[in-house]
Amino acid sequence: MRRDDWTKILGWPGYAVYRQEIDEKGQTLKLWVRRKRGNRWLICSGCGRKMAEPADVTEREVRDLPWGKFRTTVVIELYRVRCPDCGLKIEKVEQLPSKAPFSKRFEEVVGEACESASARRVAKQFGLPESTVRAIDLRYLERWSAQRKKPALRHLGVDEIFLGKATKFVTVASNLESGEPLWFGRERKKETLDEFFRTQLSRRQRQRIEAVCVDMWEPYKTSIQEWSPDCAIVYDKFHIMQHANKAVDEVRRAEFFRKGARMRGVVKGKRWLLLTRWVHLSADKRQQLNELFALNRRVMKAYLLKESLQRLWTYTYEGAMLRYLKSWTMQLRWQRLPAFEKLAYMLLDHLDGILNYCRVKVRFGVVEAINGNIKTLLRRGRGYKNLRYLLLKAQRMAATKTEFVVFRKAA
Ligand SMILES: [Zn+2]
Repeated sequence: MRRDDWTKILGWPGYAVYRQEIDEKGQTLKLWVRRKRGNRWLICSGCGRKMAEPADVTEREVRDLPWGKFRTTVVIELYRVRCPDCGLKIEKVEQLPSKAPFSKRFEEVVGEACESASARRVAKQFGLPESTVRAIDLRYLERWSAQRKKPALRHLGVDEIFLGKATKFVTVASNLESGEPLWFGRERKKETLDEFFRTQLSRRQRQRIEAVCVDMWEPYKTSIQEWSPDCAIVYDKFHIMQHANKAVDEVRRAEFFRKGARMRGVVKGKRWLLLTRWVHLSADKRQQLNELFALNRRVMKAYLLKESLQRLWTYTYEGAMLRYLKSWTMQLRWQRLPAFEKLAYMLLDHLDGILNYCRVKVRFGVVEAINGNIKTLLRRGRGYKNLRYLLLKAQRMAATKTEFVVFRKAA
């Protein structure tokens, strides 16, 4: 094979192969490259300034894409430049995006593999340590994030997610229109959301937010009113139904707590049935629920109240929505269901934000889909200590839709 052919097959932009070494037994290939004659300008890696004169020359070795069975290493001749601004700096080379010993295109292949498989599996496939695969993936995602155009933020979603005992709660800010997470913050305090508004958005971006979709959680509300006072706060269906589910669960516990072992046996394992919507239950499961209802009227009432609350979001006129909510509340009379009375007070307390749904149509379910994606990532990746990495991963997932978003049936 001629030199030229090596250069053509390697296809390293602007560089030519001048030496090669094949180890047939070890199945490795090593190629030495240097700049092609026409490729003259040197770029400072510090500031991007173009320069003609090199200061000195050095070499770097990186792993590149394999040639068939041959694991390939490329040795690149590199120049250092004396930059007026940065001093002595190495030149910038497109295929060498970081100090790590891998070419850009090798990192891209590894990063792409990480999109559909766990780091552990990719590590095995490429014969690399798992930590190296994660580091490559992170750089791959950072590059992707840096070059893409970010969609405008008009509808903001704020939610919290529990990331296990070590990290605990994380606040997730997301763009409800593009369906991607924007930022993670530790804990779920007012200061957490304050930090998002302060560090992630410009004053103009904050003013452009039309609506924020959030749970009935005072610290978030206070923060939103402070940073984006003109936007509409919308309490979303999902969170409200979560509260309703909690109320059903409280009724169940109160009703069966002191009923003896036999009764507890009947309720055992029925918890999730009570939290599932009737339309999502099979005939068999419905039968099971009916048996439970025959034993306890109050649990049945609680279930029906939860089911009928769903209908609140079928209204598009504030007046009608309000009327429905009032009649729903009226049904609580004489029922002696303290958990639901508490819920009703909560809803009336947050009436404006509930009715706001009639004024600004935000996409419900997006926040839950994002949460679902994050949980999928966590299950697959077994703990992300680096929240930045988890965020980029979830963003990429939303942008490429590699994972099918699963809406939780409970909502
Ligand atoms: Zn420079």
